Amino acid sequence: MEWYKKNEFDHPWRTSNNAFIVLSFEIFLQRTKISQVRKLFDLFSKKFDSPEKVLKNKKEVLSVLNTLGLKHRALRYIKLCEILTEKYNGKVPCSKKDLISLPGVGDYISDAFLNIYCKQKIPLIDRNVSRFLSRYFGLSIGSSKPEKTSIIKEKAKSILSGKNFEEASLALLDFSIYICKPKPRCDICPLSNSCKWKTKQKC
Ligand code: SF4
Repeated sequence: MEWYKKNEFDHPWRTSNNAFIVLSFEIFLQRTKISQVRKLFDLFSKKFDSPEKVLKNKKEVLSVLNTLGLKHRALRYIKLCEILTEKYNGKVPCSKKDLISLPGVGDYISDAFLNIYCKQKIPLIDRNVSRFLSRYFGLSIGSSKPEKTSIIKEKAKSILSGKNFEEASLALLDFSIYICKPKPRCDICPLSNSCKWKTKQKC
């Protein structure tokens, strides 16, 4: 947490009080660079901050998303806006079951939305966080996906328990992106003394 507080990350969608913006940016962030997605924030938060406005400006939204390499997600995003407008009166539901039924919203995106916007205590586990937890705890997990997911979730909960859950979840995400990267920055890592991976001198 100390590391997180010292580093100011420019992720304005995490503090937005607009549910649609929070969900939209979690969708845009999938497999896309944060710096690329950041460029969209001002435009979307001023001009396309509701599903109705996106649908009214469909052509322009498609063109912006296509330019940024989000082509494959653009049409699904429009479909999502149609469903939010027709079925949810333009609101984003704080329900895992409803969220996961929306186009382009999978397990991680729904958890991220529930954590960030709905303030539900759900650990955010993407491939970066899984990599960090596996290294830090020296996990050698079999290839079964459910087994792996459940062990990683338990480890994440053990790290997050007793802390400001929402902030700690975001800290875990950012730490895994910026420090425990595929090529880890063990030289500047504040956890290097207790990390199993480091102890084995793998970095
Ligand atoms: S010491 Fe290295 S491997 Fe361990 S958590 Fe830090 S960056 Fe990751």
